[in-house]
Amino acid sequence: MLLSLSSRILSTVDTHCLTKMAWNFGFKGARSVMLFRQRQKQGIVFPPFLYLSILNSCNLRCQGCWVDVASPREMIPLDELNRLVNDARAHGNSFFGILGGEPFLHPDLFDFLAQHPDCYFQIFTNGQLITSKAAAKLRQLGNATPLVSIEGTDKVSDLRRGNKDVLDRTLRGLRNCLDARLLTGVATSLCQTNIDDLLSETWLRKLISWGVHYTWFHTYRPVGPKISAELALTPEQITRVRRFVVEKRASVPIAIIDAYYDHNGQALCPMATGISHHISPGGHVEPCPIIQFARENVRDSRGIYDVLTTSAFLRDFRETAARHTRGCIVLERPDLVKALAAKHNAADTTQRKSAVAELDSMVPRTSQYRPGDEIPEQHWMYRLAKKYFFNDFGVYSNMDPSAKSP
Ligand code: SF4
Repeated sequence: MLLSLSSRILSTVDTHCLTKMAWNFGFKGARSVMLFRQRQKQGIVFPPFLYLSILNSCNLRCQGCWVDVASPREMIPLDELNRLVNDARAHGNSFFGILGGEPFLHPDLFDFLAQHPDCYFQIFTNGQLITSKAAAKLRQLGNATPLVSIEGTDKVSDLRRGNKDVLDRTLRGLRNCLDARLLTGVATSLCQTNIDDLLSETWLRKLISWGVHYTWFHTYRPVGPKISAELALTPEQITRVRRFVVEKRASVPIAIIDAYYDHNGQALCPMATGISHHISPGGHVEPCPIIQFARENVRDSRGIYDVLTTSAFLRDFRETAARHTRGCIVLERPDLVKALAAKHNAADTTQRKSAVAELDSMVPRTSQYRPGDEIPEQHWMYRLAKKYFFNDFGVYSNMDPSAKSP
């Protein structure tokens, strides 16, 4: 599996892009996690992986989206993006997740990428705006990997994403990325309408036949103004996803990413571990993308390192989440999210100003935390990578022993 995957990547990804990925993400990313661990021992939390939602606008209208995509445009302007990245880089970071809205609608995206050749960016995109020219530009820059979301067959894609010909247009963008020899991934948010089509070896083999290098299966999170709770996976399906990922990682030559389990298959939350936090299009510093409350804003005069390492709000969020669950505090305990926001007098960072009402409307549900159903990694590469660079970093030691998944 590993040999076949490596030779596929080596033969289909542009050398400049591959070198940037190996150095900026591989080597420097590992170093940033080591720095994170060292700081953590001194009680300082500064996430090595920051996620930046650079604007709210989008050309699609996905079910369950929590971003105000149809509201007036808000975005992090170029000078602010540069300040953020420069400050984080000065403290050892080199990797940034770029989200939206649709990031390719940001007028300065390419200038931004070009001004940070020593960093690496993963761009979460619907792919539809990636023309062959845009893909060639990404190849020339070399420091970004597009992660193109595909949510199902043509009919399901139209339904999930609120437009026509969604799949065809996304596949055109994906093709442009692959033709330009970019390291390219496909992400899917698994839900009731796509799990049977996409959680299959047939789908993985199709991605491989197209030339896709990695995939990321999220699970649909019923949050936001239109939660479409009927799409959420059952607890058994969540375990099915985990089992599939572990098995296929060991047998199918495509890299499969996840952000919710350690090497022993124990659930974790990247926000609670402190390995990642989120900046919204309005500059709000949030625990994670779906927790739309904040006390701090990057437009304050302080730098992002100072803000993140001194925020009592973020610290309380991490510690409260880690005391109550190894899973997702939003899905399992929306009441706690609401209480934390009230306790810290945090601002609702949505434009619709209904974040509290949305929490009130949520029914607690099972997340990735399924005690007793842990499925350890089978493949040595994932075991090692997770053991050293993506684990719970000891944050669950004060967990309430009676805490259990709903
Ligand atoms: S709170 Fe939930 S959505 Fe946010 S990082 Fe944790 S597990 Fe993910």
